[in-house]
Amino acid sequence: MENCIFCKIVRGELNSWKVYEDESTYAFFDINPKNEYHTLVIPKKHYENMFDIPEAEAVNIMKTIKKIVDLYSVKLGMQNLQVINSSGAQAQQDVFHIHFHIVPRFSGDGQNIKWNPRTELRDRFDDLLAKLS
Ligand code: 5GP
Ligand code: ZN
Repeated sequence: MENCIFCKIVRGELNSWKVYEDESTYAFFDINPKNEYHTLVIPKKHYENMFDIPEAEAVNIMKTIKKIVDLYSVKLGMQNLQVINSSGAQAQQDVFHIHFHIVPRFSGDGQNIKWNPRTELRDRFDDLLAKLS
């Protein structure tokens, strides 16, 4: 993908602060860090998001995430973080080369992800499941 910024990072055409790389994945600091060590994990091949990535590539990403979590745990004593993926524009994806955020968290960091529970949906659980069969 010629103009994809994350493909350019993988090709070395754009500067990045690399945390880890292997045959199929690349991990680097987010340019707009929400905390120290805010890291993005991507496949080296271009896929848009969770809808088009093959299962094996998704597995490789998760293995790399676990490696980095262990690294931060051992080296930094990190004990709290969030792993986040957004797939699709309406799910707030901004860069359309699939990526997982590793966002370290600690109390008083000034960050807050807040979901609004829609408890009325409980009444529809049976219908929702029926659509899957
Ligand atoms: P999204 O909103 O798609 O989940 O996250 C995209 C992330 O990519 C954002 O957190 C943004 O800061 C990061 N980002 C965008 N452009 C660049 C870049 O050129 N380099 C790096 N390291 N991160 C970027
Ligand atoms: Zn790309």
